[in-house]
Amino acid sequence: MLSLEEARAAILAEVTPSATTQTVSLLQAHGRFTAQELRAQVDNPAFDNSAMDGYAVRTADLVAAGFVLPLHGECRCGDAPGKLSPGSTMRIFTGAPMPEGADSIVIQEDVKLEGGKVIFPKSVQPGSHLRRRGEDFRHSDVLYPAGRRLSSYDLALLSAAGVAQIPVYPRARVLVAATGDELVTPGTPLQPGQIYESNRLATLLLLQELGMDAVDGGTVRDDPAALRELLKSSADFDFVITSGGASVGDHDLVKQVFAEIGEIKFWKVKIKPGKPIAFGRVGSRTHFFALPGNPVSSLVTFKLFVEPALIAWHHGVSRMPQLAATATNDFRRHPGRTEFVRARLVTENGKLLATALPGQGSHMLGPLRETNGFIRVEADSAGFKQGETVMAIPLSTDL
Ligand code: AMP
Ligand code: MG
Repeated sequence: MLSLEEARAAILAEVTPSATTQTVSLLQAHGRFTAQELRAQVDNPAFDNSAMDGYAVRTADLVAAGFVLPLHGECRCGDAPGKLSPGSTMRIFTGAPMPEGADSIVIQEDVKLEGGKVIFPKSVQPGSHLRRRGEDFRHSDVLYPAGRRLSSYDLALLSAAGVAQIPVYPRARVLVAATGDELVTPGTPLQPGQIYESNRLATLLLLQELGMDAVDGGTVRDDPAALRELLKSSADFDFVITSGGASVGDHDLVKQVFAEIGEIKFWKVKIKPGKPIAFGRVGSRTHFFALPGNPVSSLVTFKLFVEPALIAWHHGVSRMPQLAATATNDFRRHPGRTEFVRARLVTENGKLLATALPGQGSHMLGPLRETNGFIRVEADSAGFKQGETVMAIPLSTDL
């Protein structure tokens, strides 16, 4: 059985990153991964300009004139740069181009106006309240490397840099199916022995959050012929993700059919929950994850294994930040597997606190209402005590 780190390394070694790219607009590029490095098309600022509403001056003229200058003209945003007449001052607004000949801005709150003249304080320094051309970035600077997932802020920057079209990797096409004879979609009354399905929905939505092209493959019965059909229909997909049937029971057929049609790279990882996970390939294109059926196991294995694989396919690097937190309660257990304990993380006076939630059974969905992270317990550890430092993995920014 592989350790968590071995399994993650095996996945990254196996995933074949996308070989195709496409070009999209800025609005369409949100959450997408860059397929080339992106360079600035302009200097930013594009020209020297005023950082404040005020008056443009040449400081030498100001000193020579005893800090009183006649007002000549104004310069607004969108105006081409004007020219400051020697021995005068010009009205200027935030973002307007610095007039030729001016070397400083005096903010309007600091001056007095008297009959067409402006009276300045005696403390004006050259270069005040100026934004210099190119001080933020310059034309041709590399703004982003390839493989960068673009956020709203990134796209604002790219827009300011004059980039109109962005080469990105296509969204991975991912087929999602649940397996199990007991599974029913809500809306139909349950017959004895049936349960409502939840993993397929969660997986589809997590994929959407990651910006993937997720396709619902429905629920497949615990029947080798039906599972074979599912796997054989997977050739159009970059990934296939199933849940259930990956364990050792007589009716856990996913792994068997997967081994028959595809190639399994590993099965079972020393983690809790989520041990019975299988990973490999079907055909030359499709990566295959058989996730465990228990709802919490399926969520944990998605986060630990599927998410990094998808990001690697888009040439990106996934990070799973682990933050030191103080445990607010005790958690005891038998060492053996790396455990991901559902936890409530909160910040208090700038410190992160982590509470192990009651109800850690991998079939229990109730504690997910409170869960906003995991506490990671190392394989050789017997748990933690209140007040100890633990490693917390946030799942949201709602801390
Ligand atoms: P399995 O991995 O198929 O042995 O299933 C383990 C447990 O998870 C069983 O209790 C199943 O009923 C349950 N389960 C399997 N698939 C799902 C699903 N898609 N949604 C909710 N529970 C599931
Ligand atoms: Mg099953």
